Amino acid sequence: MEFDIGIIGSGPAGYTAALSVASAGHKVVLFEKDLIGGVCLNRGCIPTKTLLHVAEIYDLANNSADLGIFTDNCKIDFGKIYERKRSVVDKLRNGLERSFKNLGVTVINDEAKIIDKNTIVAGNEKYICKQIIAAVGSSPRIIKGMEYDHKLILSSDDVLNFERLPKSIIIVGSGAIGIEFSRILSALGVEVTVIEIAENLLPIADIEVSKRIERIFKSKNIKFYTKTSVEKIDKYEDRVKVHLSNNQNTEAECILLAVGRVPNEIEKVDGVSYIGDVSGSVQLAHYASKQALLKVAGIPFDETLVPSVVYGNPEIAWVGKREQDLENGTYQKSMIPISALAKSQCDNALDGMIKILVTENKIIGAHIVSKEASSLLQQIIIAMQFGITVEELKSVCFAHPTYSEGILECLMRLN
Ligand SMILES: Cc1cc2nc3c(=O)[nH]c(=O)nc-3n(C[C@H](O)[C@H](O)[C@H](O)COP(=O)(O)OP(=O)(O)OC[C@H]3O[C@@H](n4cnc5c(N)ncnc54)[C@H](O)[C@@H]3O)c2cc1C
Repeated sequence: MEFDIGIIGSGPAGYTAALSVASAGHKVVLFEKDLIGGVCLNRGCIPTKTLLHVAEIYDLANNSADLGIFTDNCKIDFGKIYERKRSVVDKLRNGLERSFKNLGVTVINDEAKIIDKNTIVAGNEKYICKQIIAAVGSSPRIIKGMEYDHKLILSSDDVLNFERLPKSIIIVGSGAIGIEFSRILSALGVEVTVIEIAENLLPIADIEVSKRIERIFKSKNIKFYTKTSVEKIDKYEDRVKVHLSNNQNTEAECILLAVGRVPNEIEKVDGVSYIGDVSGSVQLAHYASKQALLKVAGIPFDETLVPSVVYGNPEIAWVGKREQDLENGTYQKSMIPISALAKSQCDNALDGMIKILVTENKIIGAHIVSKEASSLLQQIIIAMQFGITVEELKSVCFAHPTYSEGILECLMRLN
């Protein structure tokens, strides 16, 4: 069988490429050995945010006495929560499958192998393609001596398939995935302990964001150890004991290892394009889909302006330079507490900050901890991408009361 393009993997990289090329009238074959939608839709972005939404409502309901709302008998139905997560994922997957069908994408539900730059084999069939894109994604990193047993030592996939909530969990690693699961599970009433080897939680973020997260974790009774690694794990029938590098130990029903993801294996062939998580670069869904659009439609994007978002209450979002990487005297900084905004007072969402770093009248970095931080950041990215100066941004009219006006407020305080 002959096609214009053969795409392996149906995550954000693969499906974006397939939909774009098929919309332009080309003949596309897409291979997927598992569920359509990849990690993002089935085991990543979507199920986590669906659970997070419920966890936040539960948390809010339990802490709403200040608002004059009393929920003395507030309970969760775990089965229903997970069922809803499944139905959101299924609905989106069905939508994606329908789009493939409508656009005439041939979907092969099988593992694909790349033979050469124009040939893919799946099952007993050979597919000849003018161009091949491998978008085969990534999998949880395995650490020697701490292999997943899917009962006591878990990956994010296992947590998304819980049949009941554990009473307690130890989360190793405080990157985006570790932080998000800490927030989801703790809001649902699980006792969470985070172990992080670096100096601060969320070490990829600006230092002030990390410190803010530590304060938020303390206020939510999420226990954490920084500058601490796991030395040894003792497994028992129904619990684990973790020996830490600080000579302490901690116990829980199970451990989630959130220690990063590694690109999946696929044949490396000259002339084939490798995009998304498998490219070994930024592991984010929006980066994967932008790489796809660059490859198949020539739509460029600025790789230095890829937003990072860690979801939860409040959201954490950043772009560009972090303060700890800048030399003193080479930049200006402005920071406001989110509580300075009228909207945050109305919403009782007071925890957070907006921090903007500037050089020569242009924003070089922005770090936000706030309700709606992900959307707020996008406004700054547009300014950064198109070289809009601080003075020009100050001349924009921001609505009141909003979180957006925090950007203006922050810029007005620059000296
Ligand atoms: C818990 C969690 C939460 C996340 N949350 C976010 C978030 O909020 N925002 C965000 O931007 N990113 C998030 N991510 C990261 C995001 O999911 C990935 O960056 C994204 O899925 C990468 O897309 P991809 O297309 O490269 O690969 P994937 O989504 O991994 O898809 C690759 C697909 O290729 C298939 N495949 C592999 N080999 C073959 C083969 N030989 N033949 C056929 N098929 C094959 C796989 O089965 C898979 O379906 C999260 C990840 C996790 C684990």
